[in-house]
Amino acid sequence: MIEVRGVSQVFQTKNGPFQALKDVSIDIPKGDFVAIIGRSGAGKSTFLRTLNGLLIPTEGSIKVEGLEITRLSKRELQKYRRSVGFIFQQFNLVTRLSVLDNVLHGRLGYLPTWRGLLGLYTERDYQIARAQLEQVDLTPKESARVDSLSGGQMQRVAIARAMAQEPRLMLADEPAANLDPVLSEEVMRILKRFNEQLGMTVVINIHALDLALEYARRIIAFKKGELVFDGTAAELTDEL
Ligand code: ADP
Ligand code: ADP
Repeated sequence: MIEVRGVSQVFQTKNGPFQALKDVSIDIPKGDFVAIIGRSGAGKSTFLRTLNGLLIPTEGSIKVEGLEITRLSKRELQKYRRSVGFIFQQFNLVTRLSVLDNVLHGRLGYLPTWRGLLGLYTERDYQIARAQLEQVDLTPKESARVDSLSGGQMQRVAIARAMAQEPRLMLADEPAANLDPVLSEEVMRILKRFNEQLGMTVVINIHALDLALEYARRIIAFKKGELVFDGTAAELTDEL
């Protein structure tokens, strides 16, 4: 599904060029569940951002279902990005809006000011948004404002919002970093369920090695921008 070939990312900084990714190549088949581990600064976020088209690598190519995403027009890139779900460490929800509005917002892709007046959402949008809230056990909170929720509930709203896009690929950048261990496991369980039940491809950055070992099918490690390990949890445990 994803073919990464020779991807390098060089940032221009005050101290000169800095290479955050070095000649990274990897194939990720449809339905895989990949955890990316590595120290802070190893290039994990940079790699994820190249996968969702937020960052165009300085070198190399990335194909997603045959689409060369490093060579898209602005418009095509926008369309591609709508097909990828992204879950952030800081949830990135619109806190003054309701839970349901945030999930609907995920389907629309932008925040309408006069949603009610214009009737922007279809019946199907509502159906899908509500179905996703049910998947993460938040149906009773549908009308609550996001800023009244706990951190764990907020991350579940963020997952429902990403799922409401009906993404072909789900990327998550440290989704459990701001959550306690119990809630972190819950987030991982939800992602694993979508992976297993829907065959959804999941790629997740995670610094908690125990969670990566327990939930991911495949683990890759970055060190100073280089891909230094690619294998199963069992293989990684052997290596350590
Ligand atoms: P990780 O997610 O593994 O912590 P990052 O991908 O965020 O690592 O960052 C890798 C390295 O690239 C870090 O040294 C970071 O400071 C640097 N970096 C990331 N983004 C930029 C940027 N936009 N400009 C300059 N340097 C950057
Ligand atoms: P994380 O490691 O959690 O991904 P970072 O602090 O590395 O977070 O990066 C947060 C944001 O700051 C990212 O958008 C990244 O591109 C940017 N960034 C990181 N390092 C630099 C840097 N040295 N110069 C400019 N932007 C940077």
